[in-house]
Amino acid sequence: MSLEFEGKVSLVTGAARGIGRAIALKLSSLGAKVAVNDVSKETASSVVNTITSQGGEAIAVEADVRDSEAVKAMVQEVTDRWGKIDILVNNAGINRDTLLLRMSDEAWDDVIDTNLRGTYTCTKFALRSMMRQRWGRIISIASIAGIIGNVGQTNYAASKAGIIAFTKSIAREVGSLNITANALAPGFILTDMTEKLPQERKDLILSMISLQRFGKPEEVAELVAFLASDRASYITGQVIGIDGGI
Ligand code: NAP
Repeated sequence: MSLEFEGKVSLVTGAARGIGRAIALKLSSLGAKVAVNDVSKETASSVVNTITSQGGEAIAVEADVRDSEAVKAMVQEVTDRWGKIDILVNNAGINRDTLLLRMSDEAWDDVIDTNLRGTYTCTKFALRSMMRQRWGRIISIASIAGIIGNVGQTNYAASKAGIIAFTKSIAREVGSLNITANALAPGFILTDMTEKLPQERKDLILSMISLQRFGKPEEVAELVAFLASDRASYITGQVIGIDGGI
């Protein structure tokens, strides 16, 4: 029996930890070749080792998604190796939370550059291969904060709202080429990013979640796998919430 993503090439950004790691492992378990991106090759390599020990095919590709030249070289490295990119998952993201009046220009720029500019750059360079083959999946990890906003996250929420608008626009630009673009809006998922929040904040968020628990990276990965598949062939330009019912 052939696996769903056999022959497909995927690139997952920020995949050394958390949600990105879970996505890389899921796509690989379904037969995709996975380029595991992170700022550091060493951290990405541990995910590659896990994938290869499970019989999958993966490479570690180092690039800071804020750096256009590095992203261009990364995409070239993947296409040199496997000839194409079918699935791009824009997952790399950071937060630097503080109230607006205390926010530094650096914290603003860092978050916008990583989350929004990184999504723009990776998509721009990966798109060429998808256009040539008239098949592609662009899946970007936004956030519920990009829809409803959040105290202390003006930079983060603006970057995620930007990803949503970017996704809707690129979906219109490339729809005729059989390329879909969708965004996910996760709520609170248990990773290093959320681990560092104060306990009172976690308790408050938990009290707002219908399912009365936080999400797992693997649950986000399931949705990514669905959107990347042919089963989601008529879904594009959408923002799909995955938040346990906040
Ligand atoms: P995480 O555990 O902090 O992992 C983020 C990953 O991105 C890390 O591997 C990190 O690398 C990498 N990264 C950071 N900056 C990068 C850059 N400039 N270039 C390449 N890679 C970079 O975060 P997460 O919770 O898994 O979040 C993943 C995505 O989901 C993010 O976009 C986040 O905004 C979004 N999200 C998360 C939640 C949640 O509740 N966790 C909710 C909504 C949306 P290093 O290890 O080198 O730092």
